[in-house]
Amino acid sequence: SGEHVLEFRVMPYAETQLMVVVRDITRLKQLEQMRKDFVANVSHELRTPLTVVTGYLEMMDADNMPPPAMWEKAHNTMIEQCKRMDSLVNQLLSLSRIEGARKQDKDKPIDVPKLLKIIETEANSLNQDKHHKIEFNIDASLDVRGAPDELRSAFSNLVFNAIHYTKPNGHIQVEWAEKNGLPYFAVTDNGDGIAPEHLHRLTERFYRVDKARSRKTGGSGLGLAITKHVLSRHDASLQIKSEVGKGSCFSFSLPQSKKVAIPKELS
Ligand code: ADP
Repeated sequence: SGEHVLEFRVMPYAETQLMVVVRDITRLKQLEQMRKDFVANVSHELRTPLTVVTGYLEMMDADNMPPPAMWEKAHNTMIEQCKRMDSLVNQLLSLSRIEGARKQDKDKPIDVPKLLKIIETEANSLNQDKHHKIEFNIDASLDVRGAPDELRSAFSNLVFNAIHYTKPNGHIQVEWAEKNGLPYFAVTDNGDGIAPEHLHRLTERFYRVDKARSRKTGGSGLGLAITKHVLSRHDASLQIKSEVGKGSCFSFSLPQSKKVAIPKELS
């Protein structure tokens, strides 16, 4: 809302007078609310898997072991839930590392084609039960400067999301090329697409269009928040085009302060 939150403070002034100091604390209040929401979200996301694990553990004690068939299911579920917590904690750490990183850490030469080869291998293994056709169109001579780990997570978040949020036998295209004189990355899928009312909120922390679905894919809702952060540190911004029922395209260009050829042995 357009309402402002004001703080009034009355203070002594000179010998016999009072002074009223008015401060606009709207922004401060908003930040405080964001921080509270964030803590509440993190707690909730960690508590859900913990509840599942605790539930199974409470069912088992020395005199009351479940039958072996059930034990196997319990065991698998507990491992799955622990992995989920582990991945959430890792994503939180990476978010806080990116927020705390210094500007000069983002000026390393990066062999992007090599990085994308690694991501392609990971994508293929993730694709085993999805059977998408995944195409990588990579300009093998196009390198950039930046923070290698950060850009790697930006690239892979977008590729893995396309795999997750496209129904089996879909078509995914990954492009790395020069466009309008700038290095350009795009992932296009023919998946579910995203309704316009969700689009502008996708990069918020923990925002998910379909919570249950995203959780099943192991998603925490932090991937695009991390991607947005990484890109803003590289003076780039994420473009999202999407149409429900047709698919989505996530893309960005990377402005480079000076285009230099990077000797391969440095990368
Ligand atoms: P998650 O861990 O849930 O994948 P992200 O921050 O990466 O979190 O994505 C946020 C949400 O955006 C997802 O839960 C999903 O609803 C939506 N989304 C992301 N990528 C796509 C895509 N390629 N197609 C459709 N929806 C997507």
